[in-house]
Amino acid sequence: MMFVFAVIGVSLSVLVLGCAQSQSTGPMPTVGGDGAMGSNEVSQTGQRADAEGVTMPMDRTVYLVTADEEAVTVDERSSGAFAERIMSSSADADSARVESRIDQLLSNMTLEQKVGQMTQLELGMVTRSDNFPEAIDSEKLRRVIRDHHVGSILNVVSAAYPLEHWHEIIRAIQEEAMSGELGIPVLYGIDAVHGANYTQEAVLFPQSQGMAATWNLPLAEKAAAITARDVRSSGIPWNFAPVLDVGRDPRWPRLYESPSEDPYLTSMMGLAALQGLQGTDLSSPDHVAACLKHFIGYSGSDSGRDRTPAQIPEIELRETYLPPFRDAVEAGAASIMVNSGEVSGVPVHASRYLLTDVLRDELGFEGVVVTDWLDVKKLVSLHRVAATEREATRMAIEAGIDMSMVPSDISFIEHTLDLVRSEQISEERIDASVRRILRMKLRLGLFEDPLAGMRSAENVGTQEDREVALQAARESLTLLRNRDDVLPLSDRQRVLVTGPTAHSMQSLNNGWTYTWQGGGLSQDMFHEGRPTIMEAVRERVGPDRMTYVPGATLTDAKGLDRAVVAAQESDVAVVALGEGAYAETAGNIRNLMLPDAQRTLLRRIAATGTPVVLVLAQGRPRTLGTVHEGADAILAAYNPGPEGGQAIMEVLYGDVNPSGHLPYTYPATPSGYATYDHKPSERLAEDFGMDGADPLFAFGDGMSYTSFAYSDLHVRPALIETSNLQAGEQIEVGVTIENTGDRPGKDVIQLYVTDVVATVTPAARRLKRFAKVDLAPGERRSITFTLSQDDLSFIGRDGESVVEPGEFRIQIDALNEQLRVTGQPLQLSSSE
Ligand code: BGC
Repeated sequence: MMFVFAVIGVSLSVLVLGCAQSQSTGPMPTVGGDGAMGSNEVSQTGQRADAEGVTMPMDRTVYLVTADEEAVTVDERSSGAFAERIMSSSADADSARVESRIDQLLSNMTLEQKVGQMTQLELGMVTRSDNFPEAIDSEKLRRVIRDHHVGSILNVVSAAYPLEHWHEIIRAIQEEAMSGELGIPVLYGIDAVHGANYTQEAVLFPQSQGMAATWNLPLAEKAAAITARDVRSSGIPWNFAPVLDVGRDPRWPRLYESPSEDPYLTSMMGLAALQGLQGTDLSSPDHVAACLKHFIGYSGSDSGRDRTPAQIPEIELRETYLPPFRDAVEAGAASIMVNSGEVSGVPVHASRYLLTDVLRDELGFEGVVVTDWLDVKKLVSLHRVAATEREATRMAIEAGIDMSMVPSDISFIEHTLDLVRSEQISEERIDASVRRILRMKLRLGLFEDPLAGMRSAENVGTQEDREVALQAARESLTLLRNRDDVLPLSDRQRVLVTGPTAHSMQSLNNGWTYTWQGGGLSQDMFHEGRPTIMEAVRERVGPDRMTYVPGATLTDAKGLDRAVVAAQESDVAVVALGEGAYAETAGNIRNLMLPDAQRTLLRRIAATGTPVVLVLAQGRPRTLGTVHEGADAILAAYNPGPEGGQAIMEVLYGDVNPSGHLPYTYPATPSGYATYDHKPSERLAEDFGMDGADPLFAFGDGMSYTSFAYSDLHVRPALIETSNLQAGEQIEVGVTIENTGDRPGKDVIQLYVTDVVATVTPAARRLKRFAKVDLAPGERRSITFTLSQDDLSFIGRDGESVVEPGEFRIQIDALNEQLRVTGQPLQLSSSE
């Protein structure tokens, strides 16, 4: 058992525990979204969030950013065209030069040096922990780099650092590494999942789920490019992002990190992020190496809790979970992180089938495979597929890992050396991993200049970047109901703002925000002046027209009566509910239902008769029970980031026309959910009034203050032979959209395909293409999508992709057209 406690500077007036703990740590207090489960395992650094949300000061000075709404980039309106551009732009480094350099290095390396390259330690292993921000301990650093030849370091110890401090840390590490006899730079890695969230000056974007709700691929790419530049500006070349877990279960605590329940939307958002992060040249000082995570099946746990077993049949694995990884690998992703959990009884870290047969041989992945935190050890302590750590190390290496995120000791080095010396692992196997790691370092240009890209604070977190973050927050906001046009609000109305997320930066941001859990010290790090929801409304209408009464915390309705009185005296009530901040296991919940206290607040405010606008700032769609009926308008905000307060206010008051669409199905009840691409029998209970597939709001839903009409859906050809599909013939699907309202607006054209009859039960429908368009009042636009054989295929009973002849339904909005496929079943090879 190992504890590393760091007491952070008292001047910050917050006592923080930075802990890197083993799984044998005792029970922890309840944390997470609300009545979340106490966790007896915390596997990360950084302090916990305050479950009730840190009470923010009331008298802060805030400001609103003046920035016009941006149009959607028009030259790339179809997701298909976007993907094509990215697939064709992935660059190859000067491979002959790189390979010969690797040969030369490998021939000069001792076994110890090679195994060191495969080892990743957390920053606390080389810092003094008696202050904040933690500073390098040169003695510890020397031991780690010189004596143990460690090739990679990760993350922060307790909280985000200012750029200058990052520079000191990275410079010290790289100087030590480069002065060694081989001069191999260290690969520093970090979780920058919604902006450079561990660099204090950087702007932050919506979490991945919110970003997916924009359905705006060029915008997501732009946000990732800013993230890359800010991470590299800090001196860090490797980002543990994007998350490509397909978030199928609303209970899962990492849902907000995962773009969508839909594999295609996840895949497209993944490509946008990948392109923004890596660009076309990894050595550019503006880009970083991406790390796709978590391969594979992490989000499919049966219980909906973090890192618990997933039973995923092969068909499901390939149909749902694999495509985003397959596409990003094809587009040139530099690295992949392994799923901590088990899939169908086998921990993925011990699965040669998944890590080698599928990932390497089938997908052709040539980059670096890194374990997740502590996961070699967990093969013993948690999963119990190995009796000793030495055996676990052998298993993981044989399965296919290249690097172990150990992260707090040198056990991996010792076991691996022993395994090679006793000939249980060959040196060739070690060489193969080291080659991949060195290749990544070379492609990143780290050998030439391991500090390339470092920039000073003036160049990070600029006004321009903030406008992109604001735009992303705006476009993520999803209007789900607007009864009697209660929105937009008017400045003249007296407004009550109430609810536990109304004045909480924590709820706007969630985890991975300056700290791992997004709480505690985070509160002191937000850029000055960025408003919460309440503050933004107050800024707009003035303190005389706005009343703020918290009404309830996340789990306790103690201020309820005052809020009810205030509602009676107001023209409209904005009720902001949702969750606090959490990450991973700490965010597990026992019940998907929004806590009682919050639902009671909503019900009581609605009972006053004052119109109610419900704003939901949360990392997953918490069910509302029947109280949703009391809300006249509902706005899903996800975790929009620090610009979210302003963005929400702008939508509430109509300065911005909402254009987000749900990236998930919003369930009506905790046990009554099914994803939008559910199987036919999911509707079986209809006769008994219990339709699992009847959500509160459907995947893809999202309203606007204007209206759109769709017409002229056509499919050409409407009849096609499988042999022609095989020969590359494509199907054109055209549609016309018109803005029939009186204000400019953006809509997402969503194209779905249904295979009407198939030998594996077909999905109700599957998203195959989309395009976000913006239209002036009265403007019409026609758009054409192209579909190919892949878009009509499914994973057959033999685990292979197949197109079966028969009828297909092509759907856009409420329009349907038929496509008939004739001929013989068409087997697609896995590389197609
Ligand atoms: C998480 C990963 C993360 C890693 C390093 C793990 O606990 O599962 O997503 O990249 O820590 O911080």
